[in-house]
Amino acid sequence: MQFESEILIIGGGLAGLTAALHLEKAGFNVILIEKIAYPHHKVCGEYVSNEVLPYLDWLGIHIEKLDPSHIKNLEITTASGKSIKGILPLGGFGISRYKLDDFLYQQALKKNIKVVFDTVTDVKFQADTFSINTSSGTIYKAKQVLGAHGKRSTLDQKMERNFMSYKSPFLAVKAHYVGDFPDDLVALHNFNGGYCGVSKVEDDKINICYLAGYETFKKHKNIDEYQKAVLYKNKHLEHIFESCDMIFEQPLTISQLFFGQKTAVENHVLMIGDTAGLIHPLCGNGMAMAIHSAKKASEILVDYFIGNIASQQQLEKKYTAVWNKQFKSRLKMGEVLAAILQREKLTNLLLNGLVKMPSLLNQIIKRTHGKQIAAQILNENRHRI
Ligand SMILES: Cc1cc2nc3c(=O)[nH]c(=O)nc-3n(C[C@H](O)[C@H](O)[C@H](O)COP(=O)(O)OP(=O)(O)OC[C@H]3O[C@@H](n4cnc5c(N)ncnc54)[C@H](O)[C@@H]3O)c2cc1C
Repeated sequence: MQFESEILIIGGGLAGLTAALHLEKAGFNVILIEKIAYPHHKVCGEYVSNEVLPYLDWLGIHIEKLDPSHIKNLEITTASGKSIKGILPLGGFGISRYKLDDFLYQQALKKNIKVVFDTVTDVKFQADTFSINTSSGTIYKAKQVLGAHGKRSTLDQKMERNFMSYKSPFLAVKAHYVGDFPDDLVALHNFNGGYCGVSKVEDDKINICYLAGYETFKKHKNIDEYQKAVLYKNKHLEHIFESCDMIFEQPLTISQLFFGQKTAVENHVLMIGDTAGLIHPLCGNGMAMAIHSAKKASEILVDYFIGNIASQQQLEKKYTAVWNKQFKSRLKMGEVLAAILQREKLTNLLLNGLVKMPSLLNQIIKRTHGKQIAAQILNENRHRI
């Protein structure tokens, strides 16, 4: 079978779904291919910076309908339990990916967006047309493709992307719990070899999600034993795990998390969200960046289709420049944080520095977060130009 569209999006996480909604609103014919049916849980801290709200409103995504938690306070504790408190300048909200991604998907269904459940296995660009193959044997033709397939996919292997050859020392574990925890707080509790984020999502549920060094993790028999032997050394974590009840049958895990540099364009495909770069989750900004990069790529595609960008080469150059300007320094800061957190002595130095100089925390938040994403759209609709 063969299908044609103007724009095809690979991956229906936050980046892919946001771009699909934006481009459909701008008057394009869009196909989105996602490999897993909605709703589904994802390993994620589920704290979203408020910087995305005006833009989501413009897209017709009204987050309040999902009854999220509203978060404005931040607590960081050291592995030995010392605590630093701060206020998040823009604040954020807590919502599960199970609910948020599904909500965006439901909005896409109401629009003229064709969502297909399949796995993209290859993308080729020839004579100004993309040819996209899927595991079901379908071939799609598109004028432009957005890569929104997340942190790591077999497609990246097929595209021979450089980062796939690096071995990552991190894995992550997440589950939902019930228990006592403030509605307006995101807590980041450090432990030897990692950190654990705790915050409320919808329906009073608590999301507990931690990033751990694979070397320390593999010394233990299972997750439970690891948590008790390593995480519990931070008294705050011991209290949380002992006083809350898990509501998942078992925690979700992912490994091979890579926080280094990727490229914003590969094989002529414009990459958005984690596909272009994953910021260290401690920064709590990956979802906002996924949404923001979808907006930037969509605006540039509109510009390209109305003829303001003359060639494919210029399109790729422009998107790379815009992506770098918007996100590169945030990612670099995340990379520095990740490097520090891999070294116990440096981690203690940083955290003890934060205890003594809490204003340093505001600097880190500022450098790892963006400003509120403007709701103004460049060339809102291709037909109104
Ligand atoms: C431990 C951890 C904690 C985090 N905590 C936070 C936090 O609290 N706040 C925050 O803002 N960010 C956080 N992040 C980052 C955040 O989760 C990501 O930045 C965000 O999910 C990026 O969205 P995305 O759409 O780019 O990717 P994803 O949400 O991963 O979506 C990619 C989609 O592509 C699909 N896909 C993959 N390959 C294919 C294929 N070949 N064909 C078709 N479909 C495909 C996948 O099924 C998936 O649905 C965290 C990340 C980690 C690892």
